[in-house]
Amino acid sequence: MTRRISILALAAIAVAFSATIAPGADASPASREDKPTSSTTAPEADASFTYRETPRFLLRAPQPDRTDLRFYGELCENALDLLSPGFDPTRSGRGPIDVRVSPDERDFARETGMNAARTLAVAFPGRGYIVLNAPALSRADPAERFGVVGHELVHLLLGRVGGGRAKVPLWLHEGLAQLLSGEGESTGDAIRLAWAGLLGRRIAIKDLTDTFPYGESSAALAYTESASFTRHVATEGLFFESPREFFEYLLSNSRQARETLTDLNDQATLAQLEAAWRSHSKMSGRIVLILTSSGAIWGAIVVLFLIAYVRKRRREKRVIEDWDAWER
Ligand SMILES: [Zn+2]
Repeated sequence: MTRRISILALAAIAVAFSATIAPGADASPASREDKPTSSTTAPEADASFTYRETPRFLLRAPQPDRTDLRFYGELCENALDLLSPGFDPTRSGRGPIDVRVSPDERDFARETGMNAARTLAVAFPGRGYIVLNAPALSRADPAERFGVVGHELVHLLLGRVGGGRAKVPLWLHEGLAQLLSGEGESTGDAIRLAWAGLLGRRIAIKDLTDTFPYGESSAALAYTESASFTRHVATEGLFFESPREFFEYLLSNSRQARETLTDLNDQATLAQLEAAWRSHSKMSGRIVLILTSSGAIWGAIVVLFLIAYVRKRRREKRVIEDWDAWER
């Protein structure tokens, strides 16, 4: 997701987590079978909604029914499979994941308080549901659609850990949400991180526990740091194979997993992990800067060479033309 998008989320970060949009292609129709439920089987049945149940989600849209809930059910199921294949949130006894589908931008803005023109979906981990912006999602391209829904699902599921009482620091929320939906580790992110390290402008991780800074560049750095630090904690600090394995461990909701979260909220443990991460990323940061700056130098050499070549060719051509003229 672009930074522009993530930054919008800051407005509602205390209660909600969001991801955002770029213009995209048309939605493809859903095909998998899932069953519609009558409103009487839905837990909080409300006649003003229409419901649809999939194996792991309960979707609802306000009446009159103008949204293709089957399409959004399919989208949620597939996005969850990409995050954690086979993960069943209903096994923990919490029931299916609630998804509210907004049929138009006005409904979405009213439900979320977010800018419907630029926000695709918002998770409310505290309230236990996700709100989808149907018109914006249907316009997005499939990769972005999965990325956004996956990102919000990570927030929602982390909100369920420890029965919703476990404190998941914000850097971990955003770190896992980005890493599992394929964001946060672009070359641009690596360069941003390397420069911030070089100039001593990194934001302390403890300052990313409850809030993110305002301002586009600091917010972008906060997201980048969160992804990098989360990967470090998962693989170097806790020896998981991947951030996904760490995520699944947290979702297991075991006593051990809850203790890990307690440790990550401990200032001394966090400081130790951060020191290790900083020295680790100092080295890789230098490599990034060397590679990117030498890349720029090589690029400049190639351009200068091409300019010289074109000039030489022109000169030669002129000489030949002159010579031709002289011959005649
Ligand atoms: Zn997020």
